[in-house]
Amino acid sequence: MSVLKFIQKLLKIKRFRVTGFSFKNRDRELWLNVKPYKNGRCCPYCNKPGKIIHTAEKPRVWLDVPVCGIRVFLVYHPREIICRRHGRVQEIIPWASAYCRVTYRFEYLLLIYCSIMTQKAAAKLLRLSTSTLSDLLHRTITRFRKGHTIRGLTHIGIDEISYCKGRKYATIVYDLKHSTQIMQFPFLNGMC
Ligand SMILES: [Zn+2]
Repeated sequence: MSVLKFIQKLLKIKRFRVTGFSFKNRDRELWLNVKPYKNGRCCPYCNKPGKIIHTAEKPRVWLDVPVCGIRVFLVYHPREIICRRHGRVQEIIPWASAYCRVTYRFEYLLLIYCSIMTQKAAAKLLRLSTSTLSDLLHRTITRFRKGHTIRGLTHIGIDEISYCKGRKYATIVYDLKHSTQIMQFPFLNGMC
């Protein structure tokens, strides 16, 4: 097994792939170069592949869940694509929501911690300042609530998908008119 595959297994990374790594800040930070599977370039609204028209010159960095006290960062150059239906958009980032600086699973961990302990204790465990944690928490909750607002819904589609290699199942509800996913049970959010 290669070192990259070992890191991928160890950190339970399944929705994207690790292409390189380095330790920084006296080995207190692990920086992972990552890439979406199948060359990514999918539209965030319809999930269909588009033509790449621009690659960000500066890489973007996302904070992931810490491992054994080591902070983990994901690094990637997001690309802009032309979707036949939605025009010029930034490709979907499998590990984080658009314009968010932390990964889905970091947000998930943040919500779990904040539901069982004080924000100060959660900030200490996640190695964040209390103000940063409070800001992230507010943004995450606002986004989740926004996602639950259903307006102008006229046609829905319900589907079932399997994940974790067919061992688990999730029910997905789509807004067929706008080609968007409106609900998912259970809420996976990058945990598998
Ligand atoms: Zn699209």
